[in-house]
Amino acid sequence: MTEPQEGPFPAQEQQPPGTTAEMRPRPDHGEDSYVGSGLLTARKALVTGGDSGIGRAVAIAFAREGADVAIGHLPEEQDDADDTLRLVAAAGRKGFSLPIDLTGGVDACRELVQTAVDQLGGLDLLVNNAGFHFTKGDAGTLPGLQPQNVDRVLALNFAAVLWTSQAALPHLDKGSAIINTSSIQAYEPSTQLLDYAATKAAINSITVNLAEQLGPKGIRVNAVAPGPIWTPLQPATRDAAEVEHFGEDSPLGRAGQPAEVAPAFVFLASERTASYVSGTILGVTGGKATF
Ligand code: NAD
Ligand code: MG
Repeated sequence: MTEPQEGPFPAQEQQPPGTTAEMRPRPDHGEDSYVGSGLLTARKALVTGGDSGIGRAVAIAFAREGADVAIGHLPEEQDDADDTLRLVAAAGRKGFSLPIDLTGGVDACRELVQTAVDQLGGLDLLVNNAGFHFTKGDAGTLPGLQPQNVDRVLALNFAAVLWTSQAALPHLDKGSAIINTSSIQAYEPSTQLLDYAATKAAINSITVNLAEQLGPKGIRVNAVAPGPIWTPLQPATRDAAEVEHFGEDSPLGRAGQPAEVAPAFVFLASERTASYVSGTILGVTGGKATF
């Protein structure tokens, strides 16, 4: 891994969904550092939001561990998706791009899963990672909430997790796993992220509930709860002044890199490391408690 950013970030803003190319500094997704050891040999994975940020780091790590990977993303994120797929191919694995807007409800989620199953020739690992928040100005506080943002947050962070998991279920056999991306916001909700924080608490509830429901089928369900991580979501949805100091309030004193989160997903995905781990929310927070 390259040395994580210690000081303030340069002030910067983008429009959602944001691109990796415009970020200063560029995030570290483990391109030069992640070394696989066959933990996911021949597994077939679908990673939503796999074009950039945490999802890209997961796609790279899964591929280097031996998995084929389909990545979901928005149509306007094709450049980022192509970069991720190049890294999957460089790991010697198959990669597929699925440009589908998951705020399209149950039909969009079913299309995503069916296309992934067709491309991969099955499905063993589902990573529900696509997510959105909007906190420019007072947009994340009660007086500032805007219907278009709240609708998008609920449709993507909450409903799409349910519909994508439902669509995947008939394809998941014993030994399969679902991993959801939660957040420190589920435990320490920021007043600037009223709607988003609530969806992450809901993801924790869905995670433990599905672990109970799907355990008898031999399907494990877990979540990763990241703290502040340097990804396009941040400059795309926060004020520039806030981006400058992003992550400084974590006990480790800095934001994390996507490369520092991906190993938690690998651990939860692999039957070799986590065969008896289900219903767990694994914090990768830079020091804040996830209980
Ligand atoms: P990111 O912007 O790189 O990834 C989010 C992805 O969500 C986008 O790349 C996009 O492909 C996808 N997405 C957004 N809207 C979509 C839509 N309508 N349809 C389909 N896909 C859509 O940012 P990230 O930080 O890597 O986010 C990944 C996950 O991590 C999210 O669930 C986010 O809530 C969560 N998270 C991030 C942080 C952080 O500090 N970055 C902290 C905790 C949790
Ligand atoms: Mg993206």
